[in-house]
Amino acid sequence: MSLKLELPTLQNWSCHNCGGCCKQHGIFITEAEKERIESQGWNESNGVPRDQPIFVKMGGVVGKAWHRLAHKPDGGCVFLDEKGLCRIHAKFGEPAKPLACRIYPYAFHPTGKGVTIGLRFSCPSVVANVGQPVSKQRGELLELARQVVPANLEKAKPPAISPKETIPWPDFHRVIAALDDSFEDESEPFLQRLLATITWTTLLGDATFAKIQGERVDELLGILREAAWEATPESADEVQEPSAVGRTQFRLLAGHYARKDTYGSKDNTLLGRLRLLRSALKLTAGKGRLPAIQSTFREVPFEELEQPFGVPEGTDALFTRYFRVKIQGLSFCGPAYYHVPLVEGFQSLALVYPAVMWIGRWLAASHGRSTLAFEDVADALSIADHHHGYSPAFGTWGFRKRVRTLAELNDVAALSAWYSR
Ligand code: SF4
Repeated sequence: MSLKLELPTLQNWSCHNCGGCCKQHGIFITEAEKERIESQGWNESNGVPRDQPIFVKMGGVVGKAWHRLAHKPDGGCVFLDEKGLCRIHAKFGEPAKPLACRIYPYAFHPTGKGVTIGLRFSCPSVVANVGQPVSKQRGELLELARQVVPANLEKAKPPAISPKETIPWPDFHRVIAALDDSFEDESEPFLQRLLATITWTTLLGDATFAKIQGERVDELLGILREAAWEATPESADEVQEPSAVGRTQFRLLAGHYARKDTYGSKDNTLLGRLRLLRSALKLTAGKGRLPAIQSTFREVPFEELEQPFGVPEGTDALFTRYFRVKIQGLSFCGPAYYHVPLVEGFQSLALVYPAVMWIGRWLAASHGRSTLAFEDVADALSIADHHHGYSPAFGTWGFRKRVRTLAELNDVAALSAWYSR
């Protein structure tokens, strides 16, 4: 199959064997992969204790059960060794691993003329931008893409722009190019680029495209972007403060981003569910102390995270790269993001910024600090992006309604400015 691959130009990545992905993710396997692993003869002599299950049977209709790899009591994949390396990889080579492990942290999304590559910032090496330029990995990525891309790729439809408007792929790419371009000029502060883009994409959501096609789409985008830029305040202090309703909705959203939900660690017992309910109630009230949602955090007063923490050097560059990789990789809307239209998908993506800054403050406060370090922001981005586009909870009606409410209240911009102080 001849396949056109579009690669992000500003991202590097190589695996640095931190083993994080083998602890954080549930690895779903096909029947063929299960049979292959069964035939590899895993037992105590090669590191898998007799009482350690290898597979976990998931739901599914009769005759179509599906499986994931089991996790050990310490949270790691059954095949993760003491040095953080994969036993399957070490014994049989990289191609013998499940496809899900080989693909991570990449994601492949249709573009109408081929496939574009997204990256998951849950991987610390992606956040740190270390390793080989992705643009130089075309051969390996093409080989992986051939295994995951469906044969009827050319039939993929472009994501909608808004609930009522869908435009052809060439015009959709004009919007994507404008979005990417909106973040390119790093001489402007990231916050201002973000605020301007929130404004013009919101206006785009009201546009009708019946008589607007081709170059006229570029004209419309140019007008919207210019108007948005003129309306953008010059500093965070000039932006309205988040509304009371917006703050409550945001705490619940950011609390969700801060959680550690993996198929290996999620506590589905009655006690575990009660704990989650208690956390949700506390996040709704926003009074007293934040519950330590996962072991990375300490309980700290809610109020503490609302004080100015500053924005450390390097944050603007990190978020510029994050947004551009997500935009170029079409990872924020359509089939890659719960099938939401582009405008709503961008609102969700924009909310990652204040959510990460809030989680970063929580990390800093957990260590007794009242200013943000760049490491807090980088770690917070890795925590938050674990869920973005992957947690089923984020595609539910309730979560999407929360994003729409924040957008309608103009609180996406307000929260972005509030947590940039
Ligand atoms: S099979 Fe190997 S690469 Fe995949 S999650 Fe387990 S240890 Fe990690």
